[in-house]
Amino acid sequence: MSELMRPTFDLKLIEKYGGEGPRYTSYPTAPQFTDRFSTADYCMAMVESNRLPIPADLSLYVHVPFCSSPCFYCGCNRVITRSVSAGDQFLANLGRELALVAPRFDRDRLVRQLHLGGGTPTFLNVDQLRQMLLLLRKHFSFAGDAELGLEIDPRTIDPVGIRALADMGFNRLSIGVQDLEADVQQAVNRIHDTAMVGACMGAARAAGFSSISLDLIYGLPLQTTMGFARTIDTVISMRPDRIALFNYAHLPHLFKAQRRIDEKQLPTPSTKLAIFRNTLNRLLDAGYEFIGMDHFALPDDSLVRARQDGSLVRNFQGYSTHGGLDLVSFGPSAISQVGDTFAQNTRSNDEWAISLNEGQIPTARGLTRCLDDRLRGDIIERIMCTGSLNYRDIEKLYELKFRRYFANELRGLQPLAEDGLIELHSGGFRVTSNGLLFLRAIAKVFDAYLQPQTQGSGRFSRIV
Ligand code: SF4
Repeated sequence: MSELMRPTFDLKLIEKYGGEGPRYTSYPTAPQFTDRFSTADYCMAMVESNRLPIPADLSLYVHVPFCSSPCFYCGCNRVITRSVSAGDQFLANLGRELALVAPRFDRDRLVRQLHLGGGTPTFLNVDQLRQMLLLLRKHFSFAGDAELGLEIDPRTIDPVGIRALADMGFNRLSIGVQDLEADVQQAVNRIHDTAMVGACMGAARAAGFSSISLDLIYGLPLQTTMGFARTIDTVISMRPDRIALFNYAHLPHLFKAQRRIDEKQLPTPSTKLAIFRNTLNRLLDAGYEFIGMDHFALPDDSLVRARQDGSLVRNFQGYSTHGGLDLVSFGPSAISQVGDTFAQNTRSNDEWAISLNEGQIPTARGLTRCLDDRLRGDIIERIMCTGSLNYRDIEKLYELKFRRYFANELRGLQPLAEDGLIELHSGGFRVTSNGLLFLRAIAKVFDAYLQPQTQGSGRFSRIV
């Protein structure tokens, strides 16, 4: 993917290729996980990961499942409460989960990355977050230069709290902004003023955070092209290192919170596209680089460097610079990836707590990848992260004849080439500027689990 390549916005192509598709934060994707996968399978994967000649270092994730008020667009697994004791109880259970899981990893496997998501990690107060870090450090060895990041809700933390996070060792944060217009905030029940976001940004810069990301969502009720332009201009003026621009997927049959959204207030598809087009142009004109899908970053950000040098990876947190790590996750619904094994905890906070109180690792479902899964996952990740595929590289790595193994897929790529999304050459293909917005549509040609009946089923979000 060329450094200077700018995605093209083409309505005809959006109509044809902008439909549903997995986000490919894993392959196979989570709908393929099965409850035939058990804790014993997860434990076996942990044992085997230690037996490798050079075991992978670790990335940790903790899912904090609480929020103090519901955002109506929410599709996350969370519990609404204002009780501080819920946080204390969570930490007690997290301590139990760490005690059951952490000893299964050799202590010399360093933690290179920690991410707190949710829910709202800053639902926990500063003392509770400090306790959490102490717990994690008690059970794992952290590299001196580990990336410690968390998602923050500007309504739940002030500049003093941000300073305290930096003192604890956090060096990356992502601020949930979504939209700065008062009427949109009212319609989605997430109200904070611009000054709160600015205060968080200023405090994070002053405290020396090395990367600050802002999350935005387009497609929310009452959003207009003009209104979202004001939001994006304000956000650009704050100069975050990264911007994530998510496409709101209205799936009320899947997410109860979204039933509180007044569908009549949702922007029409054409307004939504106009918002997207306008935002895309504003971000690119302001000097942000397009990383892929919904991610933008300033040219000196590590994501841009990783995209240029081919080290960008895709995992459950989206695009990341840290490849080759085993991901060990904690908290309800958290997904681990150890070697070729995905293991997901039980979704419900209560069930997660009950399992831990009974001394059980709370695995609910998962999957162990077969060779074909690994091969296709590798191809999909290359398309999503580098925008290209070299058949010879795959042939050498997996000892197969690409054109024979993927005869159907090569036929599937033909229409994409005819529409100018990719350029085929003798040894592979590369995504063009016309195809950059459709990386998921290109990648899904190699997805063996996508059946015609799962297309348009409302199971996945729209690509554009
Ligand atoms: S969108 Fe985020 S902050 Fe809002 S309710 Fe859902 S998890 Fe909580």
